Amino acid sequence: MTHSEGNNPLRVLIAGGGIAGLTAAIALCLQGHDVQVFEQSSLLRHTTASGNAVFCAPNCTVLLNRLGIDLAQERGLAYGGAKFLDSDCDVLHFERTSDEQRASWIAEWYLISRVDLHNALRRTALERGVKIHTSASIQSIDPEKATMTIAADLPRSHELDNNSNNNNNHTHTQSTSSNNSNGTSTTTIPGTLIIGADGVHSATRTHIVRTPSHEAPTVFSSGACCYRFLIPTATLQNNPITSIFVEKPQGVFVHCAGEDRRLVMYPCSLGETMNCVAIVPTAEVGEIKRGRTDYDQVANKMQLKAHFAHFAQPIQQLLDMVPDDGIRLYDLFDMEDLPSLIRDKAVLIGDAGHPFQPHIGQGAAQAIEDACALGVVMSRDATPESVPARLQLWQSLRKERVSKVMALTRARKQPAYWNKTQPKGDKGLAEAYAYCIHHNAWTNAEEQLKAWEGGKVAARGSS
Ligand SMILES: Cc1cc2nc3c(=O)[nH]c(=O)nc-3n(C[C@H](O)[C@H](O)[C@H](O)COP(=O)(O)OP(=O)(O)OC[C@H]3O[C@@H](n4cnc5c(N)ncnc54)[C@H](O)[C@@H]3O)c2cc1C
Repeated sequence: MTHSEGNNPLRVLIAGGGIAGLTAAIALCLQGHDVQVFEQSSLLRHTTASGNAVFCAPNCTVLLNRLGIDLAQERGLAYGGAKFLDSDCDVLHFERTSDEQRASWIAEWYLISRVDLHNALRRTALERGVKIHTSASIQSIDPEKATMTIAADLPRSHELDNNSNNNNNHTHTQSTSSNNSNGTSTTTIPGTLIIGADGVHSATRTHIVRTPSHEAPTVFSSGACCYRFLIPTATLQNNPITSIFVEKPQGVFVHCAGEDRRLVMYPCSLGETMNCVAIVPTAEVGEIKRGRTDYDQVANKMQLKAHFAHFAQPIQQLLDMVPDDGIRLYDLFDMEDLPSLIRDKAVLIGDAGHPFQPHIGQGAAQAIEDACALGVVMSRDATPESVPARLQLWQSLRKERVSKVMALTRARKQPAYWNKTQPKGDKGLAEAYAYCIHHNAWTNAEEQLKAWEGGKVAARGSS
């Protein structure tokens, strides 16, 4: 059934144009809904960010495939195994991915640069007809009325490639502008479904959920922070001391861990670049200034080197290769599990609902699972009246799984598993992956939606 034959499409307003927001936009557009994304930035940081790559495990890839995105075409590199080193750079364990393991996966496992992933999502969203507004900062939302209020006048849609049909006419016809008590102007836009996908420092979170003590939920530092940087793979390979970090064939994830800090690296961009993440205790770094996005803290190379001064020569030489101006410092945040991710006609997805630390590489994957399950549950025949009940169904699919993956992530915070007491590898990590990577959030949501619809039909029949 098309919308012209039946219901009107939902009018979906999404706060945030990151991985979660763009994925939800594509999934909901596929159902024929009218979708707009409001992103506070110019989106430039997503297309130029350095030191930033993502592990797309099979539970993530299988969903991107359903959206028409093939990471092999986006410079993704197939994951080929994991190598564990201690701080002396002695190999504790090295396991290459076997053909048997690969055959058991529901989709391929890719290592991909965040820029490449974001570009693929943005391009696909625009091709599907999503309207993306940039420089649009969400101030508040009203879950009951399903409205979204943004700062200043409604910005023009971003001039983006493939965006020739993009215009704001529909938005402008129904929005209202007003002035705040502090004199700044705002625009309120009506919708039928509001999605908070505005990341770890979410502005929408506080309107959707309160803690049991009725306070607004807040994020806190996990006690660890990370430096991120990129090194050309060829530079590492051409030096006989650092070539131990480059395996052939490529795609190997390398952990080099001491007692309370570690350096993790894996290749991305078809293997041209090594994405490196150095995780250290925040107490040793001192105060990390919290910018609105956390992406703009340029870090000091000498400070980075000092954290790893007791590591062996290969790490010293690797750190010498880091470009002086190419290091970013991020705090790693955590948050108590929220009592609910939904309220009336509004929902929190991705880091806005559950900020992920990087320890098992599932943050983007869980954001994409949230988004795709939402797209399935808000099927083509969804009406505005059915949105709250459908969000209840979505929450029943997502909340428990996300809490479990969060718990598995937190358990991996301590690198104690990776030192010499565990010569046979990281069993806890293997168990965590076993829970995460075999789940297909799309087919699971389809099955549960079918059961839910069947239950409604049965209830109607029996009344
Ligand atoms: C060091 C590190 C390594 C990681 N590695 C991995 C990995 O290998 N694999 C993996 O799956 N995950 C990984 N993660 C986690 C992953 O990056 C996040 O879970 C994921 O990016 C969440 O996506 P999101 O769209 O929810 O949030 P974001 O990507 O943060 O996007 C939120 C968007 O909302 C916008 N926004 C914010 N406030 C507003 C506002 N008021 N109005 C409008 N727009 C707003 C922001 O500008 C941003 O564009 C890692 C995280 C870290 C910190």
